[in-house]
Amino acid sequence: MEIIRTVSEMKAAAAAFRAEGLSAGLVPTMGSLHEGHMSLVRKAVSENDRTVVSIFVNPIQFEAHEDFGSYPRDMAKDSELCERASVDVVFNPSAREMYPDGFHSYVDMSVLTEGLCGARRPNHFRGVCTVVSKLFNITYPRRAYFGQKDAQQLAVIKRMVLDLNMDVEVVGMPVIREADGLAMSSRNAYLNDEERADAAYICKALSEASRLFDEGERDIRRIERHIGELLSKIPSIALEYAEIVDAKTMRPPDGDHGEIICAVAARVGKTRLIDNVRLK
Ligand code: AMP
Repeated sequence: MEIIRTVSEMKAAAAAFRAEGLSAGLVPTMGSLHEGHMSLVRKAVSENDRTVVSIFVNPIQFEAHEDFGSYPRDMAKDSELCERASVDVVFNPSAREMYPDGFHSYVDMSVLTEGLCGARRPNHFRGVCTVVSKLFNITYPRRAYFGQKDAQQLAVIKRMVLDLNMDVEVVGMPVIREADGLAMSSRNAYLNDEERADAAYICKALSEASRLFDEGERDIRRIERHIGELLSKIPSIALEYAEIVDAKTMRPPDGDHGEIICAVAARVGKTRLIDNVRLK
């Protein structure tokens, strides 16, 4: 396995794969890898001739007051996990390498980014779209793998690929959870024992939403309110939003067709966590 830190070397490696007729799968991550990431990596390894995992804590997708500085980083462990999973290249550029002096170009998206996380993190999806576009241009993947845990991000990337005619197949992968249901996340490392125990209620509330929907409840406001009531009983949890939306439009479902999800963002102590469940 090769660890590449510069854009020019990564482009050269990707061009060599192409020249040999080899397909490349890209798994973009911010590192501190866990089973959620590794499920994407395994899928990429199984579907492509070569797999590239990018590990880059992208400064421009964090708001000024957020945790860019303290975001967990562990390159030694991440490299070992990638090596064991038969990854071919880990692309681990510095922020300066990705955003050198004079960088002024951004990929922006309207509408899809206006609700949910986009409403609370106004610069977030501009940062995500910009870095993912750059990663596509640098690694030329045939396929790119994203988790459904970040449901709005997945919808945004699919839309961007369509809108900008990018030649990449976007593959969405299911949410991987801890034994008690908590969605795996690099940010779970911030939780103390009490918060960690409380965090499991996010998934429990989503299961309740799922149960109500399965029983035929179609008043989505009632389901959203129910989640709010359940989580308001947990002292360390402050709900940011609980919304039932169409997975493609991120807007309230239009009737009973399409994929419908219930998405939650909440603070557990100071840690902001997101999760969602597919209702239909
Ligand atoms: P991150 O490092 O948090 O930016 O995540 C990198 C990729 O891994 C994104 O596509 C995430 O959606 C995906 N991911 C993170 N956590 C999980 C999880 N628990 N299950 C599935 N995919 C995940």
